[in-house]
Amino acid sequence: MGNMLKKITDQSIIAGYLEDSSNLTGGSADGLYLPQNEAEAKEALLECAAKKEPLTFSAAQTGTTGGCIPFGGNILSVQKLNKIIEIDQIKKTALIQSGVTLEELAKASAPYGLFYAPDPTEKSATVGGNVNTNASGGRSYRFGSTRDHILGLKVLLTSGERLELKRKESPVRGLKNAAGYYARPEMELIDLFIGQEGTLGFISEIEVSLLPKMADTFELVAFFKTEEGALGFVEAAKKIDDRSINFFEYFDPNTLQMLGRSYPHIPLEREAAVYVEQELTERNQNYLEEWEKLLIAHDSSLEEAWIGSDAKQKEQLRQFRHAIPEHINELFKEHHLVKMATDIAVPEGKFREMFNYYNDQLKAESLKLFYIKFGHIGDNHLHVNLLPKNEAEIVLAKGLILRFVKKAVELGGTVSAEHGIGKIKRDYLLEMYGENGIERMRRTKKKYDPQGVLGRGNIFTLE
Ligand SMILES: Cc1cc2nc3c(=O)[nH]c(=O)nc-3n(C[C@H](O)[C@H](O)[C@H](O)COP(=O)(O)OP(=O)(O)OC[C@H]3O[C@@H](n4cnc5c(N)ncnc54)[C@H](O)[C@@H]3O)c2cc1C
Repeated sequence: MGNMLKKITDQSIIAGYLEDSSNLTGGSADGLYLPQNEAEAKEALLECAAKKEPLTFSAAQTGTTGGCIPFGGNILSVQKLNKIIEIDQIKKTALIQSGVTLEELAKASAPYGLFYAPDPTEKSATVGGNVNTNASGGRSYRFGSTRDHILGLKVLLTSGERLELKRKESPVRGLKNAAGYYARPEMELIDLFIGQEGTLGFISEIEVSLLPKMADTFELVAFFKTEEGALGFVEAAKKIDDRSINFFEYFDPNTLQMLGRSYPHIPLEREAAVYVEQELTERNQNYLEEWEKLLIAHDSSLEEAWIGSDAKQKEQLRQFRHAIPEHINELFKEHHLVKMATDIAVPEGKFREMFNYYNDQLKAESLKLFYIKFGHIGDNHLHVNLLPKNEAEIVLAKGLILRFVKKAVELGGTVSAEHGIGKIKRDYLLEMYGENGIERMRRTKKKYDPQGVLGRGNIFTLE
């Protein structure tokens, strides 16, 4: 074993690695590794396995579930593993180190006329982080989640073995899911490592598929008098979609009120908004008339809508959407609260039932609890964020989330569509798979990480 890799033990440096966007507190670590290459990463894995010291992988720390926060042991950060190794214009692929961010990959692919389709809202996240949480975003409505765009992975195990996993067939696309290990009959091994949340091995390199740059797009934020109107609009638009629509994003009444402080031109007398992005192709040249008809049919109008036609307008709309998680995360921080949010998606045809359940439950019990519902409505996937302000409200909020989780499971949905389980959603995973299901995952972990040192506390506990 080489002796090049230094372990940093300065607690003032380590302190910067004990947080992500979950606001989970109480993390600690004795050491931090910042490997400059794969050999050094391997050294860290071997050292921790030999000494049976926990090792938590850390990337951009934008995760919402505390996955990168260690509770003892050591941290391995991918900060210095951020090289774009190759972009192949003909094959439309990119080979990158796992610490490359979405932003960096987009920038590097653009000159080749290519783009990486998964679009989680937070562009400073790394592709490695996205692979580990099977992240997705608005455009997953059209393009699927991270899993659908991963062609190869290089994985280091604590045994020192290096797996080179290549995808043979496209994964089956179904309900968005980032809850626990992927399991399907005749699945490919690569799929086990997508969504593993740093519990089985270290992902050092990633091969992704890229797509030819999209034709021009048209964007629209439409405002509706009622939530019902917004839902009806999305349902109708999904029926006529010719696969040119990239996403439908939802804003509920409280989301609009919250954003109203920074965006005074929001028509606050409206209850809901839907943000749509569509690729403009030869097939949808009459797009403006089509949207106008649909809007009128749902008691909305094109005149009132915000339109994104040029780059500047589109960037403004993108920032408007991105402001939702930013604003709510700020509020969680201000109130020193661990993020209390759902990440539930339900199968097609079950969304209304889930949506009505949210509203019935949230409006019952004469709640003073502040909440917002927003997100990827095209995928039947909303984030309900709850902001309790005292102990009694925290109990109430926990109870509500558990009820939402049970309802989602009853409808065949998932408790985590894109954020993963991390350390704060383990109880929900138990609702979804039961003790037997979790025990099967533990057995899988044991096979790849027999010392149980990697990603301790992520997805499940070891006992
Ligand atoms: C404002 C905001 C908006 C967001 N929007 C979205 C969204 O639209 N969709 C979405 O899915 N998520 C979203 N997120 C959540 C977050 O960006 C994702 O979960 C992302 O995948 C985390 O990536 P990261 O690089 O920050 O990883 P971290 O948070 O640092 O780590 C995430 C997990 O991956 C593990 N890990 C990281 N790298 C490796 C590696 N190389 N090998 C093994 N394990 C590793 C870590 O141990 C941890 O368990 C948002 C977050 C914020 C703050």
